[in-house]
Amino acid sequence: PKSVTVIGGGLAGSEATWQLAKRGIPVDLYEMRPQKMTPAHKTGELAELVCTNSMRSNQLSNAVGLLKEEMRQLDSLVMAAADRTQVPAGGALAVDRDDFSAYITQKLHSLTNVTFHDAEVKTLPQAGIAIVATGPLTSDALAEQIQQFSGAQSLHFFDAAAPIVAADSIDQEIVYRKSRYDKGEAAYLNCPMTQEEYENFAQELVKAETAAVHSFEQDNVFEGCMPIEVMAARGAKTMLFGPLKPVGLEDPRTGKLPYAVVQLRQDNAAASMYNLVGFQTHLKYGEQKRVFSLIPGLAEARFIRYGKMHRNTYMASPAVLTKSYEAQKQAGLFFAGQVTGVEGYVESAGSGLVAGINAARAALGQAVVSFPKTTALGSMANYVTTASVKHFQPMNASFALIPGLEGKKVRNKRERHEKISERSLAQLAEFKQEVLT
Ligand code: FAD
Repeated sequence: PKSVTVIGGGLAGSEATWQLAKRGIPVDLYEMRPQKMTPAHKTGELAELVCTNSMRSNQLSNAVGLLKEEMRQLDSLVMAAADRTQVPAGGALAVDRDDFSAYITQKLHSLTNVTFHDAEVKTLPQAGIAIVATGPLTSDALAEQIQQFSGAQSLHFFDAAAPIVAADSIDQEIVYRKSRYDKGEAAYLNCPMTQEEYENFAQELVKAETAAVHSFEQDNVFEGCMPIEVMAARGAKTMLFGPLKPVGLEDPRTGKLPYAVVQLRQDNAAASMYNLVGFQTHLKYGEQKRVFSLIPGLAEARFIRYGKMHRNTYMASPAVLTKSYEAQKQAGLFFAGQVTGVEGYVESAGSGLVAGINAARAALGQAVVSFPKTTALGSMANYVTTASVKHFQPMNASFALIPGLEGKKVRNKRERHEKISERSLAQLAEFKQEVLT
């Protein structure tokens, strides 16, 4: 077979490399870290998680849970790594971030048909088979090339990351361990707030000074990753319906529901670090320390990592790509990951999986394929290629992208979603057997 070039060893590029290599295709993988870092990555490891250690729901009543299961059916490396390195997180799949990246890095390095190049790629390949998976923080030189190639206006917005605190600096007398509605293991530490504490905290948050973000516009904040201070500014009680909602989190010591609760999620296997759930922020570091220390239990907290905001580069994919993630105007050139407008770790890896399978088919002289729209994998490819170009926004996996069930309406949402997932998995199995062999 022909060889394939993969640019970017993140979530999408690592998965694509695995899918190619296991089909016997020689791969040249280019990753610029650690020589050249992005504003969010900290290591030279492949598939580094830049923000939360959670990959969200692991259940078939949730679209990202379905997506995970579909990827497992297709022997995903990212899912294998996540399943092997998970840490307790209730109904979600969270991982030890270092073990997760180490697993993927070692696995890919053990393959004899993958050649690693520690280099930044500054130009788009003009011929041959390649996958561009350089992510939301694509280096400037290549981002400019992608912008020229895609012809459409450059699109980007800002994304935010939540801070992490040291476990031994959390006041265990004040916090309590519990998962919402006692779902799964008691994976979270909860910081209970009285009404007075909440109101004071909300006021300080709104007054706090934000870091200067180049050409930052409030309208560009992605709704799913809204900075906590932006949420606080929307209304005195807005946070109570978001990350600070107390429902299902009665304090086991009193049996009472606190007025508000800040949840801390275990961030590594050793349980030495916790992240503040939903606290993406672009406050100045000093302000983060001052204001977040007002949270009961965090008065003496040591911040291991502060929250940040970053550029997020993605293309106007509906004008550029086909459902196999191949460029409309250059056969053999594929794109994958956040740069295509899928949003999220699992979604990025999922698009890498589909692009990888298709690039492998191209290398073997087979026709590229699009996945059924009824699968989570296919529904994302469908979305990023058919959405309105003008209003195109990155998108998480969602049942809203998957056609509904035929026949009698199932009223219960959870049941309906589980039924859709069942159908998706059955159709994926069929597709795998009939098309992918
Ligand atoms: P990445 O995983 O970023 O991989 C791209 C790789 O390409 C990187 O390793 C980079 O070093 C490399 N690269 C870039 N340019 C070049 C070049 N020119 N040559 C060679 N190599 C290059 N998603 C979530 O699900 N949960 C979150 O909490 C979350 N938080 C985020 C926080 C921030 C600050 C950002 C920026 C994004 C966040 N995302 C989050 C979104 C997204 O899911 C992740 O960024 C995900 O890693 C995207 O996968 P990817 O493979 O597309 O890109």
